[in-house]
Amino acid sequence: MNSLIQKYIKDHKVDGFLITDKANVRYLTGFTGSNGQIFITDKKGEFLTDGRYITQASEEVSKDFSCRFYRKMYKEIAEIVSNKGKTKRLLFEPGALTVKGLNQYKELTKGITWVPLKEEGAALRIKKNRNEINILKKAAKIAHTALEKVLSEIKPGDVEKDIALALEIGMRKGGADGVSFEPIVASGTRSALPHGRASDKKIKSGELLTIDYGSVYKGYCSDETVTVVVGKADKKQKQIYAIVKDAHDMAVDAIKPGVTCGQIDKIGRDHISKKGYGKNFTHSTGHGVGLEVHELPTIASENKQKLEPGMVITVEPGIYLPGWGGVRIEDMILVTDSGHEVLTPTDKAFRSIG
Ligand code: ZN
Ligand code: ZN
Repeated sequence: MNSLIQKYIKDHKVDGFLITDKANVRYLTGFTGSNGQIFITDKKGEFLTDGRYITQASEEVSKDFSCRFYRKMYKEIAEIVSNKGKTKRLLFEPGALTVKGLNQYKELTKGITWVPLKEEGAALRIKKNRNEINILKKAAKIAHTALEKVLSEIKPGDVEKDIALALEIGMRKGGADGVSFEPIVASGTRSALPHGRASDKKIKSGELLTIDYGSVYKGYCSDETVTVVVGKADKKQKQIYAIVKDAHDMAVDAIKPGVTCGQIDKIGRDHISKKGYGKNFTHSTGHGVGLEVHELPTIASENKQKLEPGMVITVEPGIYLPGWGGVRIEDMILVTDSGHEVLTPTDKAFRSIG
């Protein structure tokens, strides 16, 4: 059984752990369906789901778990977690139950104390193994291949939404299960919106174009942002791009085990501030990425957590100038034993297209 789970059970002094976070359920058991839970004690692990998934569970769920199928979810899970009266204290992930759901369980398990997990649920998945890293690389490669094709075809007059669709089709054709999130395609002054959804706007010659996108492959998400100029770039566009690119490169270069997430954030942010755009870099530098597109660790100023080999994080500094536009550059980076490896293959040197 997963050693972190056993540590959680010990640290919280509980008799069992009910796992309801979907990504954690998939991570631990391999089950890809939309409904499943795990009940773990120091002796056993049981995978729980409803009757729709009998075949799928038998094919997917790791042999470390026995499978149980229920009809009435709350009632039967309450019975299972009471473990024939042996459970006095039960651990759960507070981020993965609704208030309503928790109240319903408590009502059905009088006498059991529900103990919230202190760590964030995603802490379990913070370090990726070889297999996960290979899958993440493949996800990034599928996305990159689709992006290059789309970029090679963009011309002034194209509509943002059409670019998002072409990107999505390209990724799916390339083997993706889906998209990590709805692609962000923001051109001209809209590129000043860090999360500008693709709109009906037509791209004009000489405009900035930011594309933030990712594919899902075998459940794992990629995440990358490119900013290009469609047509001829002007001096200011090149200048702002160079500042963001330098901030990005400095932060990436500093990635190695032992450095804190806060230090990585500070390196790029200090550079942008020094150039006079500190207040225009309005978000944190990055985040972990894996089964979910936003995972731990958070690459933010207040985070003192140290990077460790196996973590996969993004570095995505940006400068956003309302009324003018914005530049963001994002890569996915693996922390290795001796330093780092960039997993997203798209070249981030300045480019104008179309
Ligand atoms: Zn992104
Ligand atoms: Zn990101």
